[in-house]
This record gives sequence, structure tokens and C-alpha cells, in this order.
Amino acid sequence: MSPIQEVVGAITQYQTGSAALARIQEALRLPAEPAAGPVELPGPGTAPAALAFTDVRFRYADDLPYVHHGVTFTVPAQGMTAFVGPSGAGKTTVFSLIERFYDPESGVITLDGRNLADWELSQLRAAIGYVEQDAPVLSGSLRDNLLLGNPEADDDTVTRVLKTTRLDGLVSRLPDGLDTLVGHRGTKLSGGERQRVAIARALLRRPRLLLLDEATSQLDAVNEAALRDTVADVARTTTVLVVAHRLSTVTMADRIVVMDAGRVRAVGTHRELVTADPLYAELAATQFLATGE
Ligand code: ADP
Ligand code: MG
Repeated sequence: MSPIQEVVGAITQYQTGSAALARIQEALRLPAEPAAGPVELPGPGTAPAALAFTDVRFRYADDLPYVHHGVTFTVPAQGMTAFVGPSGAGKTTVFSLIERFYDPESGVITLDGRNLADWELSQLRAAIGYVEQDAPVLSGSLRDNLLLGNPEADDDTVTRVLKTTRLDGLVSRLPDGLDTLVGHRGTKLSGGERQRVAIARALLRRPRLLLLDEATSQLDAVNEAALRDTVADVARTTTVLVVAHRLSTVTMADRIVVMDAGRVRAVGTHRELVTADPLYAELAATQFLATGE
């Protein structure tokens, strides 16, 4: 059996039938067709990716209103960019367009200066790690959950990623370590731990661009600090984009893109935006503060 069959087998033990498999594929955004062989991973030291949106207009269907009305921003390679804005502003849609779940109606998105439409889809997706809001943790062991990101990952890589995501302490405390069963949909883990398991899974693919749609749920101080340190570490070697709901996240961002109703209204650091943009100041005073700092 190939490693991916083993992993899927291990997980389907706890679930039933092809509906479960479809759900796993959906959860991981795997292409529906079977992979021809092991995914080719970018090698260690592969450069982080630069990204640009230029006047992107997008709607989910012809009879629906525009979600992006000419979105423009640039993200240099490496470092961390946070996206903030009221619910419905179009933040998650930015990530869906980067992954090419959809294409813009007009305007251009480039990765490393190359139009996304010119990338081979499998190469594009191999370059990106996408951690969705409330990314699923499935039943099975912690190891199963991690290796879904990359069945080929060796023990050293797993150990390194556990350290980066501050899960090494948890693993050493668990009676069966990585073989601990995490329970139905990961219910034995806290919300903050589940989020970091999802990040670890994405990191095992060694992405050049990490997209993190932060969960809105409250985190305790320990998980909040662990998430912050994880993102800071990853941003040293990778381009990180975060849809942010926490003050602790935005204060460390290299730049913040403030979105409202499908437009970018301001870009700057937390310090700059608190005085320059009334909407940002409002979000910082209410929404971010309400999430725990
Ligand atoms: P945010 O992440 O900033 O809250 P989203 O990008 O999720 O905003 O959504 C922006 C707008 O697009 C919202 O009005 C939302 O209802 C709509 N939308 C999001 N996803 C879909 C979809 N798959 N089909 C149709 N409309 C959608
Ligand atoms: Mg969203």
C-alpha cells in the first residue's frame, strides 16, 4: 500500500464509506483525480512567494452582487500580512482566489510575478498551505491527522513542525504520543490545539505561501501565545497571509490590509492604522479586544 492509502485507510477505519473519503478530500482540497505519484515538494530553502492583486473584480455568480470591486494590494516575499475587516468584507474570498477555487472576472493575480492562470494548478497548490477557518481535525490519531498534509514526511520533519507549532509539549504529555486518538473530529483537543494541528498539517507540505484563516473562537492565554509564536516563526521563512481576528496577531503583522465591502481601504501597520483609519481603530477597540487581549 502507498503511504496515502495507508493514511486514508487508517482514517476510514473510524468513518464509513466514500462519503467520508469525499469529505476528507474536500477538507484537504485535494484534486478529485487520483495523484499520479508522490507530490513534488519544493526543496528546503525554496524561496517564499510574492503575491499581488491588481484591480480584481469578482462575484460568485452572474446573478450575485460583486464581492470584490477592484481589489489591489501587494505582498512581498517573506513576512506576515494580516487581512482585517468586518464580516462579509471579502477576506476569505481573497484566499479562495489565490487557491484558484475561483477565477476573477477581471483584474490580475500574480504569484512571483506570474499570472495565477499561467501556473499549473498542481504546482500552484503545492506551493500553498491553506488553513481554513475551523479547519477540520478528523478522527484517527494525531499522526494520521498530520500526515494527511504529506504522507511522505519523515520523523525529523514531523518533529520540527511539532516544535514550530508548539505542539511538542502536548505530544510528550499524551499517553500514546503521536498515536493518541484525537476523538471524533478532534474533540479531545482544545480549539487552539486543533488550529495548530491544522497549521502543522499545512507546514508538512513545506509551503512557500501559508494562508491562515484564523478561527474566531476565543483562545486561552497559552493557546493565544502559542499561535502568535507559531505564526511569527513561520513568517521568517515563508510568506504568511492571515485573516486575523486577534490583536496579538495584527500587532506583529508586517502590514495589515483593511478591507470593507469588497474594497481595500487602507494598508499599514497596527500603529499607523490606529490613527490613520477610523474603521481600523473601531475594529481594534471592539472586535480585537473582545477576543482576549
Ligand atoms: P469575509 O471573510 O470578509 O467575512 P467572505 O469573503 O467570506 O467575507 O464573503 C464575502 C461575501 O461573499 C459575503 O457577502 C458572502 O456572503 C459572499 N460569499 C462568500 N462565499 C460565497 C459563496 N461560496 N457563494 C456565494 N456567495 C459567497
Ligand atoms: Mg471569512
